[in-house]
Amino acid sequence: MKTLKAIYDEELEEFLEKIGLLEDIRSGMVKCEGCGEIITLDNFGAVSRRNGKLVVFCNSPKCVSKSIRTSSE
Ligand SMILES: [Zn+2]
Repeated sequence: MKTLKAIYDEELEEFLEKIGLLEDIRSGMVKCEGCGEIITLDNFGAVSRRNGKLVVFCNSPKCVSKSIRTSSE
């Protein structure tokens, strides 16, 4: 389980770096679009695009379902 988590974290960081959010998340500058919680690598749930801007959601089921609704618009 620990190994799986480590791999997942690495992939997540790589992904966030690719879309240009990793530094902002590391510096605590990104908030969940759904509940306003500060996003960290531990509670990152989903990312979606709204009006050309990237918006991030935490991993609470409520917020993740919001992000799915947004991205299908
Ligand atoms: Zn949230």
